Amino acid sequence: MPQKLAPLIPEDAPFTEPQRAWLNGFLAGLYSYAPSPQLAAMRVAVLYGSQTGTAEGLARKLAKHLKSAGCDAVLSSLEGYVPATLAAEKHALFIVSTYGEGDAPDAAQAFFQQLCVEHFPLLQNLEYAVFGLGDAHYEHFCQFGKDLDAKLDSLGGVRLLDRVDCDVETDVAFAAWKNALDARLRKAALVEGVETRNEAASYAPSQSATAAATGSPVASREHPFAAPIVEKRTLTAATSTKRTIHLSFSIDGAQMEYEAGDACGVAPRNSPELVDTILELLPFTGNERVEAPKAGTFPLRQALLEKFAITRLTRNMARQYSSLARCAWLDAIMKPEQQEELERYLHGRDLIDLLRECPGAIQTIDDLVRILPRLTPRLYSISSSPLAHPGQVHTTVSVVRYQTHGRHRGGVCSTLLDDRVEVGDRLPLYIHPNKKFRLPQDPSASIIMIGPGTGIAPFRSFLHQRRITGATGRNWLFFGERSAATDFLYREELESMAADGHLTQLDTAFSRDHGHKVYVQDLILHHAKRVWAWLEEGAYVYVCGDAFRMAKDVDRALHSIVAAQGAISQEAAGDYMHRMKENRRLQRDVY
Ligand code: NAP
Repeated sequence: MPQKLAPLIPEDAPFTEPQRAWLNGFLAGLYSYAPSPQLAAMRVAVLYGSQTGTAEGLARKLAKHLKSAGCDAVLSSLEGYVPATLAAEKHALFIVSTYGEGDAPDAAQAFFQQLCVEHFPLLQNLEYAVFGLGDAHYEHFCQFGKDLDAKLDSLGGVRLLDRVDCDVETDVAFAAWKNALDARLRKAALVEGVETRNEAASYAPSQSATAAATGSPVASREHPFAAPIVEKRTLTAATSTKRTIHLSFSIDGAQMEYEAGDACGVAPRNSPELVDTILELLPFTGNERVEAPKAGTFPLRQALLEKFAITRLTRNMARQYSSLARCAWLDAIMKPEQQEELERYLHGRDLIDLLRECPGAIQTIDDLVRILPRLTPRLYSISSSPLAHPGQVHTTVSVVRYQTHGRHRGGVCSTLLDDRVEVGDRLPLYIHPNKKFRLPQDPSASIIMIGPGTGIAPFRSFLHQRRITGATGRNWLFFGERSAATDFLYREELESMAADGHLTQLDTAFSRDHGHKVYVQDLILHHAKRVWAWLEEGAYVYVCGDAFRMAKDVDRALHSIVAAQGAISQEAAGDYMHRMKENRRLQRDVY
């Protein structure tokens, strides 16, 4: 029986991109309940470029889903995938994140570079789709997804679906994309004449993953563990120009395991003051019942505290709000040619600003709930070692406070941790594995750690872990902060490790203690000869902290050391660094 295909919403239909994706997904979902052909024998490559594991997690889900529908779904990181193989693929689905200033994840860089070489084979047989992950807060939102999509297109590949640029909240967009893919792959299968082998196995969305997650005793993002805080202390001095705190959570009794290098997710709560201000600006009491996506029904005030993001104004929120409001200036900056003006407006503003500056638009609870994104967990590198600090998870948190547009503002989670929780309070916590940031398997290997600011966190974990496991390899740490007197995080611990030799070398760059700035990369360059000797002896290099400036500058410094000390060309130095990355001897955890 011929398969009925889900119609697709045309590109010129009057919907925003997320609306169109959602509608396509919805239609595909509806149609997927009709008897559908089995996709056995259809090979689909599911390829991911992941930095923190989110893209990988989604790719795994997608591959599992396709397999359950009978596809020969082949899952691979772009790191382990030979680019030329693409020319032989018929269907490839890419889930890729973007880091720093629009960069590809480390694991995807080599793949993309090869895709860009002259005379790369044409991909005329390839049908592909790209699901880009990013953070709309950043200027180069989903840039790698965009670059990859454009490159595949220019090589002759044909899009199965338009690219999706997905903000931090992935669930809805990913589900819609997955459903839309169902419909498209079925269509492709029909065109190719792929045989229906088993009528009974219909191509309906798999429910097994959801079932498995429900009631799972292992703490997860969906089912975090309510972990009590057992220690909270300030790492910076009261006179410091910034504030960094240390928190220890007890995970005794929880099904939680982690490795040095992992992060933990904390489910935050919004500030009650902000929530009360929002309620004052709206025609609601706070007691109205609202449905929070995937969380259940709550009184509005509780939902605003725990379930919805209210501290950042996104493009999508502004767009939805403008459709409800009668506000000429807002309509004006929503025009495509006014993107820069819109960005300028969004920067540093939140929901309260919009409610004040364009009042009266929200009349019903539905209006409100529709524009609010979900409040998502915040990730922090774990600064404890699972062996040296059994039953505990430590975090090192820089408290974000700033003033914009006439109001004091702060990071949702860091101000919660600083202002509103104390020892004994519990917070929802789970482990976020970071497989791309691991100590060397060989305990005798040397490591160089470069971690200014809160970038120190995983290195405190590494150092304690290497001590307790008796790892004999040398440990070299570059740490940087503003001032030695006020911002030397974990000073006692680090100096005592340096004194007893566990820390072979400790170099500190205090940027504001001198007439001129001194950064970690200046010290790395200062020690060029020794750094080069360690590299040639097989040392592993780890970089953690700020992605925007520090990580790039450190990369440049290492590159120039390799070129100068190795007396090789810039290009050869690039190859050297590339090999280090490939061999996992250069690992980064940057944010
Ligand atoms: P940080 O801002 O990275 O500062 C640590 C040290 O690095 C300071 O001495 C700083 O010097 C120096 N530095 C500045 N530019 C540098 C460069 N190009 N190369 C090397 N060092 C440089 O430390 P942090 O407060 O721990 O923040 C770390 C990262 O986390 C930052 O990217 C920050 O934006 C981010 N962050 C995010 C959150 C969040 O909630 N998402 C919260 C806190 C921090 P100067 O300042 O004197 O120039």
